[in-house]
Amino acid sequence: MIFKVFGDLHGNTPSIKDNFDAIISPGDFSATFSREYKFKAMRDSKRLNKKVNWKSYLNKEEVKKILEKEKFSMYKVLNYLNSFNKPVYFVPGNYEPRPNKLNKIIKDFPNLINCHLKLIKLNELNIIGYGYNTHPEIPQNKKDKMIYSNVLEQDKIEYKKNKKILFSLFKKSNKPTTLITHNPPFKTPLDIVLWQGSPRYNEHLGSVLTRELIETFNPIVCCSGHMHEHHSSYKLNNTLCINPGEKDCLLKINGNHAQANI
Ligand SMILES: [Zn+2]
Repeated sequence: MIFKVFGDLHGNTPSIKDNFDAIISPGDFSATFSREYKFKAMRDSKRLNKKVNWKSYLNKEEVKKILEKEKFSMYKVLNYLNSFNKPVYFVPGNYEPRPNKLNKIIKDFPNLINCHLKLIKLNELNIIGYGYNTHPEIPQNKKDKMIYSNVLEQDKIEYKKNKKILFSLFKKSNKPTTLITHNPPFKTPLDIVLWQGSPRYNEHLGSVLTRELIETFNPIVCCSGHMHEHHSSYKLNNTLCINPGEKDCLLKINGNHAQANI
């Protein structure tokens, strides 16, 4: 089976000429009009040792305008992904609406299949998805423990809940499994922030839970995005981890064997 794997499309709709059977997308469909404020909030969070909300820099009208522009670009990308008339296995990124709202939206796009916290059974392989995550579920250093101290308990509950669901999905999967996650596995060459303009430059910000899933269940492949500056692959144990960044690649899966042109 041949998949076209996208990274974060962020409002882009590239022209594609390859032949493939299905699409994999790790989310982040909308353009990034809020990014400069989000980065400012990250910088201030680091400086003030507490989580700062990006919306606090703007008035209600300005926030509304930005969110509307992002929503419009998300629809453009959903329409683009749907237009290939092939199944699109995706997980939501941090720019997408929460599950209930998103599932209502994608009813208008019949080729789109939201894999977040789901086990999708195909003929020759299974797909499991884990979306939305942007940083280690549980802070991995002292600084982050301070910044996220007021949401730590909530984060721990969320992490345990997702871990329970994903572990049980993997236990039910009886075929070679493809994992789709928004955030790459923690502490790999794919999750280090290489862009010097980022307030978290040179830090590993991947998903701890994604890494645990790979180390425990050895899926054949893990497709992620979120870190735009990457366009590479990495073998974690026996799992081929790929992050196309802001580009795309082809992934061929044959039985237990996965190969990507990245
Ligand atoms: Zn993202």
